[in-house]
Amino acid sequence: MKIICIGRNYKAHVEELHNRLPENPIFFMKPETSLLPRHHPFYFPEFTKELHYECELVLKICRLGKHIDERFALGYVESIGIGIDFTARDLQRKCKEEGLPWEIAKAWDFSAPLGAFIRKEEFEDLKNISFSLQKNGETIQQGNSRDMIFSFSQIITYVSKFITLKQGDIIFTGTPEGVGPVKSGDLLEGYIFDQKCLKLKIM
Ligand code: MG
Repeated sequence: MKIICIGRNYKAHVEELHNRLPENPIFFMKPETSLLPRHHPFYFPEFTKELHYECELVLKICRLGKHIDERFALGYVESIGIGIDFTARDLQRKCKEEGLPWEIAKAWDFSAPLGAFIRKEEFEDLKNISFSLQKNGETIQQGNSRDMIFSFSQIITYVSKFITLKQGDIIFTGTPEGVGPVKSGDLLEGYIFDQKCLKLKIM
């Protein structure tokens, strides 16, 4: 399986990192080894001094597809959950400055913890999914799928022009504004509406 991550998909987040609004979805990938088994502790990596959370809605793909038509794109989604696209922001800044790829900032081991998934059919409206992240009990990020620059369908269509999607693949759909640092001892909790889907202790 593979993990595809969309960058710059919420206007306010694009602005907070002083980036330009994209004309097409921007994506990068994390390897399977970036998954953190559920209920496992997360250890602060030694190679960064600026570890940022990015709380995102995550799609789980349920069948093989290439060149997927936008009208049928949601048929490739089995369920939706919450994930953290952990980013070593200091390393990423350096990569950007030097025009280098982002992998050392984004694709390291356990950089993509996932929470529980909710079946697609349980949502009334996929264009109105509210989600949030709390750090030590305080809400630090709040988003809604209606504010995405590129919808779930548009993302699937665009990505599948280049890369075949397979059952079990994961797509991170971008983070809303409010990204920031974590340190050892912090507790992150992710919600879809008022359902707690993710709990992660930073060790
Ligand atoms: Mg992200």
